[in-house]
Amino acid sequence: MHVTMLGTAAALPDPDRCHTAILLTLDSGRTVMLDCGHGATRRMIQANVNPADVDTVLITHLHHDHISDLPFFLLESWILNRKGRPTIVGPKGIEHFVSRSLEAFDVDIRARSKYPARKANFEAIQPMVREYEAGEILHDGDLSVTALEVKHIPTEVTHCYGFRIEADGKIVTFSGDTEPCENIGRLARNADLLIHECTFPEVMIAHRLKSGVGTAAHTSPTELGQLASVAQVKSLVATHFGHFDSLSPVLKRAAGKHLRVELMGPHLLDEVAADIRKNYKGSLHLARDLMRIDL
Ligand SMILES: [Zn+2]
Ligand SMILES: [Zn+2]
Repeated sequence: MHVTMLGTAAALPDPDRCHTAILLTLDSGRTVMLDCGHGATRRMIQANVNPADVDTVLITHLHHDHISDLPFFLLESWILNRKGRPTIVGPKGIEHFVSRSLEAFDVDIRARSKYPARKANFEAIQPMVREYEAGEILHDGDLSVTALEVKHIPTEVTHCYGFRIEADGKIVTFSGDTEPCENIGRLARNADLLIHECTFPEVMIAHRLKSGVGTAAHTSPTELGQLASVAQVKSLVATHFGHFDSLSPVLKRAAGKHLRVELMGPHLLDEVAADIRKNYKGSLHLARDLMRIDL
């Protein structure tokens, strides 16, 4: 199997990074997507993957930077001649999101469905959407996925999950967004690859805690190194970077309350790596869009 990091940013519109989305391409050729943040569909084309060939999308949580490309992905893969209905599996609320999104594109869908070619594959725009709770959420031949709840958004609002995926004799764990918690340790235990959020470097976390802006419900580089070491993962990808490495003047102006703007820049990735390395000695990648990892 191989993994393609389609999008590697947190929630702002970053000129260099799209929002979270990851492709798993199994040895059979089957392609599955984890989360579908903005830019996922465009990045797929750049990665030489036809969105119409992605049969299943698994969603960790309903923050917009993990789901906003879903309607675009569905529409484009319909137009790109998808055969059959795609499957979308997500936490409670995903059915509402998908059905309302497609309703909002009702005029476009009615207009295009007049064409014989679009009428012929109309089921492509009628996804099978299934809501899950903790446990095994998918098991179909070459792929099994277990979801456990992680700590990110207050549970009275919604539930957030991480995944442990078994395919081709390998284990890939994806954190979704979370602060350190027991369940992510369980999901990551002995994984061949742990793909884990690492939203802010230590200097920015200290600033955010003082300023009271945004959530602290993320994992720091030091905490991520501890987790990867304790879980004995074979390889680690840090991702979901909170724009601290950006040089964009717009992001710098807008991020003043969230980040220490004077420190922003790609050099901070060196600090992230060094802080992960304090506790973790294994293989380490800092994600960038379109990065490919073969397992
Ligand atoms: Zn996020
Ligand atoms: Zn989130």
